[in-house]
Amino acid sequence: MNTNNTVLNADQLLQVLSLSENATAIYTSDDIVIEMANDAMIGFWGKDRSVIGKTLLEAVPELRSQPFIGLLKQVWRSGETYTAKDTPADLVVGGKLDRYYFDFEYRAIKDANGDMFCILHTSTDVTAKVLNEKALEAGLKREKILGDELEHANSQLAAANAELFKSNDNLTKLVESLAESENRFRKLVQDAPVAICVLSGMDMRIDVANNKILQLWGRTGEEVISKPLLVARPELIAHTYISVMKRVFDTGVPFSGTSIASKVLRKGQLADMYSDAIYQPLLDESGKVTGIMVVLTDVTDKTLIARREQELVKALAATNEELAAINEEMLATNEELRESQYLLRQANDDMRSSEEQLQFTINAADLGTWDLNPATNKFTGNERLKEWFGLKSIEDISLDVATNVIHEKDRPLVVEAIEEALNFRSGGRYDIEYRIVAPHYSAPRYYRAKGKALFDSEQQPVRFSGILQDINEKKQDEIRKNDFIGMVSHELKTPLTSLKAYVQMLLSKAKNTEDQFTVNALSKVEIQVIKMSTMINGFLNVSRLESGKIQLYKETFDLNDLIEDVAEQMQLIIPKHRITLSPSSPMNIFADKEKIGQVLTNFLSNAAKYSPAGQPIEITCNYVDGQAVVSVKDEGIGLKPQDKEKMFSRYYRVEEASTKHISGFGIGLYLSSEIIKSHKGNVWVESTFGVGSTFFFSLPIYNN
Ligand code: ADP
Repeated sequence: MNTNNTVLNADQLLQVLSLSENATAIYTSDDIVIEMANDAMIGFWGKDRSVIGKTLLEAVPELRSQPFIGLLKQVWRSGETYTAKDTPADLVVGGKLDRYYFDFEYRAIKDANGDMFCILHTSTDVTAKVLNEKALEAGLKREKILGDELEHANSQLAAANAELFKSNDNLTKLVESLAESENRFRKLVQDAPVAICVLSGMDMRIDVANNKILQLWGRTGEEVISKPLLVARPELIAHTYISVMKRVFDTGVPFSGTSIASKVLRKGQLADMYSDAIYQPLLDESGKVTGIMVVLTDVTDKTLIARREQELVKALAATNEELAAINEEMLATNEELRESQYLLRQANDDMRSSEEQLQFTINAADLGTWDLNPATNKFTGNERLKEWFGLKSIEDISLDVATNVIHEKDRPLVVEAIEEALNFRSGGRYDIEYRIVAPHYSAPRYYRAKGKALFDSEQQPVRFSGILQDINEKKQDEIRKNDFIGMVSHELKTPLTSLKAYVQMLLSKAKNTEDQFTVNALSKVEIQVIKMSTMINGFLNVSRLESGKIQLYKETFDLNDLIEDVAEQMQLIIPKHRITLSPSSPMNIFADKEKIGQVLTNFLSNAAKYSPAGQPIEITCNYVDGQAVVSVKDEGIGLKPQDKEKMFSRYYRVEEASTKHISGFGIGLYLSSEIIKSHKGNVWVESTFGVGSTFFFSLPIYNN
């Protein structure tokens, strides 16, 4: 550098430059060393004066990635000045990196030799201007875009307008064609070959109902159009599909069903109708259901036929099932039959062998067997019977021929007993003794016949058979015994009668004296004598009864009077028991008074005999079903059930420790029973062992 400059030396120049308001810096060498920078330039860089002497890159490191250092080096090397405007530079000022804009010049200053001397850098901050310009530019750009957009929108609006005009036109046409098509629809519906109606609103008002549906409903258009469905057709109130329609209305989901039952009018009467139905919801533009279109197809005939067919199939199936069941049952029955056949065969074999056995037993026991067919009245017997009856044949003879051989005195009783056995109510029992007068026997012989009748479900006798036993020997013994008893009783009776008369005479005499002892003793004797004669009378009566010599002397009398008399007499004989009578209305009977008296006496003496002293005895007499029923009740030892039956048999006495010491022969009740039976009455007993007994007899009431 030429330091001998005459005008200003370098330092002076630098001083002057540093005072300049224009930002100025001077760089030397290829390294761009800051030789000088005035405050304005240092201010741009945001640094202080320490930068002087440093390379530019050291002083302003943010310039590394920017073109300036390169440009300066270019100027140094080429010696060509570089000028630029509105150039952005990123600088850290006040600790903050910002973009600034500068107009600048890198002037190449050369010495006289034309060698590079230094670079003079001048710079003006045009940041504000550039930013303004940029803002303006951006504003202009925006305006332009807006303008373009507006223009575009405008042209679109114009097009839309045109379209609107066009669609307005179309709409008008559409409305017109809609009206036309609704008309067409109505017409179509009206004449449609299927039944259609349109219901609208929640109350299902009938808007449209075509001829076909009116015909199905049995209604006219005037009756139903514009009316709610249930008002127009009240017959549907209980119809389940009303709720289905409501659901279609609520949900907008269509419904279709087959063979739906409903009611319709036919000649003013309600009738069943079956239809296939479609309920199609009708929607407005917003998708809301406004109504339902109902399309019906009458399938009544088809449904009824199908139902009938179904029923037939069902009935057939049931019959089939029944048949199968019957078949099964029959199979089972078959099986059972086979089994029972086998059992029957076995039973048959058993029966044959037991019949043989029975026959053997019958023969061994010397029994006759007989069999009467109640339907034909034919009588059959075995060989033994034939022999006893003295008949040539005993195969299928008439009953009369069979009974003819019976002793004439016994025959009526036998006939009666057979009739009784053949009566269902008797239980079919038959047990009788009779005599047979057979020509080959010199005298009648005694037999006992025992049998049983069998009845069918209608209580008719179907079979009557039994056995016959020869009891002649036993009977003759009995007769002999009887005769003996009769004779003895008779022989005893005479002295006893006079004994009784003497005792009574003595007693009446003694009663006139003061001799009380004799009176008492004679009274006791009298009682014993009476007891004895009662016993002897009993034997006499038995023997008379056995020999059939008993006679009834019947008269009409009031049974109450007899009861009173006997009770009074007996009270003297059994003073330790109090006899009470229950009064009754007059009870006239026609009977042997003395013998009925004997029965009462027997009942009363037994009541006393078989009761502890002091126990009461009660007599009643009542009218029951045309009979006089007399009862004698005691509170004595009572009877066991097994004894009750045999009570009225001859010589039967209960074998008990309690009765051992009580005297008796077991003939009182037998006689009583025979006496009552000979009057066509009945004798029976009700008793509880240890509590007491009530003996009854009944006699027919005498009418007239
Ligand atoms: P008897 O009394 O002479 O033995 P009955 O023919 O009068 O003969 O009676 C038969 C049997 O019936 C009696 O032995 C007795 O055992 C029983 N008997 C009769 N009457 C009664 C009665 N009132 N209470 C209990 N047992 C009786």
